[in-house]
Amino acid sequence: MKEIKTVDDFNFENKTALVRVDFNVPINKLHEITDDTRIRYSIPTIQKIISEKGKIVLISHFGRPKGIPSQTFSLKFLVDYLSKQLKITVNFCENCIGKIPLKKVDELKYGEILLLENLRFYKEEEKENENFAYELSKLGDIYVNDAFGVAHRYHTSITILPKFFSGKKCIGLLMKKEIQYLDQFLLGKGKKPITILLGGAKISSKIEIIENIIDFADYILIGGGMSYPFIKIKGGMVGDSIIEKNKKIEKTLKKIFRKYHNKINIIHLPKDVVIADSFKNESNTKIVPIDSIPNGWMGLDIGPYSIKNFCQIIEKSKTILWNGPVGVFEFENFSLGTRSIAKAIANRTEKGAFSLVGGGDSIASLKMENCENKISYLSTGGGAMLASLKNKMLPGISAIIL
Ligand code: AMP
Repeated sequence: MKEIKTVDDFNFENKTALVRVDFNVPINKLHEITDDTRIRYSIPTIQKIISEKGKIVLISHFGRPKGIPSQTFSLKFLVDYLSKQLKITVNFCENCIGKIPLKKVDELKYGEILLLENLRFYKEEEKENENFAYELSKLGDIYVNDAFGVAHRYHTSITILPKFFSGKKCIGLLMKKEIQYLDQFLLGKGKKPITILLGGAKISSKIEIIENIIDFADYILIGGGMSYPFIKIKGGMVGDSIIEKNKKIEKTLKKIFRKYHNKINIIHLPKDVVIADSFKNESNTKIVPIDSIPNGWMGLDIGPYSIKNFCQIIEKSKTILWNGPVGVFEFENFSLGTRSIAKAIANRTEKGAFSLVGGGDSIASLKMENCENKISYLSTGGGAMLASLKNKMLPGISAIIL
């Protein structure tokens, strides 16, 4: 990561850092945070700047207010939480641009924090707006991006704002970690065997990843709705199982089979499947070979033989990445496959493997099994993780390098 500057390349003494964080944390009806991972992971960046007696202006989005300010999407509720976590004064400003925040930054003492209101209260945030970026840029000397969860978005604070900080922009420590961990897979730096498990329903969001990793992955496991287009193209019967409609997918799959025919044994598909006669938890079920699903039935979870096969591969892997459930895990009756994968990865990690898990569903299933703390690293951005694995330089990172 030579060319990307990080906060470690700067001294923040007497400087104001404009830090883009992703504090878009899940909350309950009482506005209590139900998962503070994203905030906790940003704390090292904040502490580094504060310890050098810099000022911090924190900017973040929260939810999807679509340019309309409201109490529901206000970031104010984070002031108390951050003050307690960091044990320093955290101030708040209800505006992101204009005279008021400028005055508040001026009054801020070195070693203190000013949290600005939700960036998405301004419709310009999601529209790559130069003026909005210019106004925001007045609030800091050094721009820091520590918001991995939105680093794949073309939003003003991610792609345009850094343009106003020539030479004085960098990524934070959360972002650095995410990139370093992903490089274990993207550059094949991880200890072998390297296993990548992709599941979920939207094959279009993951298919390009296969081509990128096939040269150095030892095992690519495909589960969930993602597996049916593979089975169908191989001539199997998938019944009414979910198949994402997209002509490009069929083309890409054919290309993969043609181009990598000598490596195709790296890709492991489920061999058996739990099928249901309707898309609900209380449906009739059967276990059948994955290529023999009758019409009127749909595959909703991987079967026991596939669970065993996938878990055995995980058991011998030293570097593991997982994104996407292998079944409709939201229905208890079809959650066994995904929960078994979660447990297998956690157990393997306890025995010394490195594991990286991303995507809200995979993390939720780890929580179902109370094993989220056993994973080496929970990515703070499912979408950004997938975009990186497609070997795309994330726009938020390009904006720092340029
Ligand atoms: P994605 O956003 O592509 O990661 O998809 C996640 C969703 O895929 C979850 O809500 C799962 O319920 C769903 N999913 C996984 N396997 C299947 C399946 N066999 N049939 C239908 N949906 C599935």
